[in-house]
Parts: sequence; C-alpha cells; structure tokens
Amino acid sequence: MLRLLSICVVVGAAIAAPFIDPAAPEYGNEIEGDMIEPFKGAFSGLLNTANRWPGGVIVYRLDSSLPSTTRDKVRTAMTNVNRETGNCIKFREATSNDGSRYVLIRPGSGCSATVGYWGRITYVNLSTSCSVGNIMHEFQHTLGVYHQQSRPDRDNYVTIALENVISGYEHNFNKQSSSQVGTYNVRYDFGSQMHYGLTAFSKNGQRTIVPKPGAVPDGVVIGQRSRMGTGDVAILKAMYRC
Ligand SMILES: [Zn+2]
Repeated sequence: MLRLLSICVVVGAAIAAPFIDPAAPEYGNEIEGDMIEPFKGAFSGLLNTANRWPGGVIVYRLDSSLPSTTRDKVRTAMTNVNRETGNCIKFREATSNDGSRYVLIRPGSGCSATVGYWGRITYVNLSTSCSVGNIMHEFQHTLGVYHQQSRPDRDNYVTIALENVISGYEHNFNKQSSSQVGTYNVRYDFGSQMHYGLTAFSKNGQRTIVPKPGAVPDGVVIGQRSRMGTGDVAILKAMYRC
C-alpha cells in the first residue's frame, strides 16, 4: 500500500488519530512507524545498491519553513552521523546541478523518513519534538536502513508479542525479507539507534518486544537514541564500503 505522508496530527482529531508517542516521536503512523515507502512494490532496501546515496553523501535541502531550533538539531545530527561513522557518511546541501536527487528536510508531524535513495526528491519530516537522536535515526532510514528488530534474523534474538500491540499497528513489527534486506554479518545490536523500545506500540504497557533469555549484553539500553550503535556503524560501513 502506498502510504505517503499519511500522518495527520491535529490535536484532538477524533477519527483515525495517529499514534504518536511523545517520548518516541518516530513511532508514527508510517510503514514500520516512521518510514515512508516512496513507491508501491519493488522496494529493495538495503541490498539494492541503486537505493544507496552515491559516494555515501546525503544531498539535502532544508525547507525554508523549518524552525531554527530544528535546523540546529539537524546540523548536530549530521555532524554526529558523520563523526560516528568515521566520515563514511557525509552530507552536502543540494545545488541546482542535483536536480531532484535530494532529500527535503521539512516540518512534519512526528519524525519520519523515506527509506533509501531513489534519485528523486525524498523526505525527512520533523516535528519540533524530534530530538537530535531521533533525527540521526531518520537519517539512517534515509541511508537505506530498516529497524533493527525487523531484520530477517530477528527471531533469533527477540520474540514479538503481537498480543500486546495496539490493534492495527501490527505492521510495525513486520520482518524484512532476506532477499531485500541484508545483515552483512553484523551481529544483531540491541543497542542500535534503530531498535524500538521494548514497549513500542504497546496497548497495555506490556512488552511488545521480548528479548530471548540471555540475549542482551550487560549495560545495553534497548531503544536508546543518544548515539549510533556499533552495529549501526558497521552496517553503514558495509553498505557504503568505507
Ligand atoms: Zn524508524
């Protein structure tokens, strides 16, 4: 299904109110919460090199209506992603020579992003509640990365408790196909900035993601957004060959 920009966050909207967790504004209404799938079908994700940003450079435009506080957070997020990937991933403002091959960073409800590079205008949508870490998370979607707990091998590490998921939001826990999404021999990372929190989309406060016994290394914070996980960096370095 094409679910382009389906978020609507008018406060008090009575019908089809979106699920936006104020503590995790990227748990939105899009594909797997905060991902916008630009085309119907044939979505190739991580494995298709055509969906990667040439040279590991995200070419972007900042929408003129983006608030200055959000701009500041965007720039910090860019600096962090560049630094934490050891300059593997870079950002460059679009010029007229780029045509429509850029990501438009613009105001929106929640935090959401198109997954991957498509050679046309794609989007990162940011509300003022998106943190620097949330924006780093969205940039990783822009780079072609899905959520950690949707990896093809996730069932070895977690159990999804669908009985605790808000009705209608089960799709947020879909598992990606190994024919489309690669793991690049990078170990499942519970500390990934792309991992949902354990109660994401919970209808009752109970866990929706239950780690396998003994699977979580000591000291790991699941669902953290403060920095990229070691697995996040490793996946991007494998994808972008740097
Ligand atoms: Zn996400």
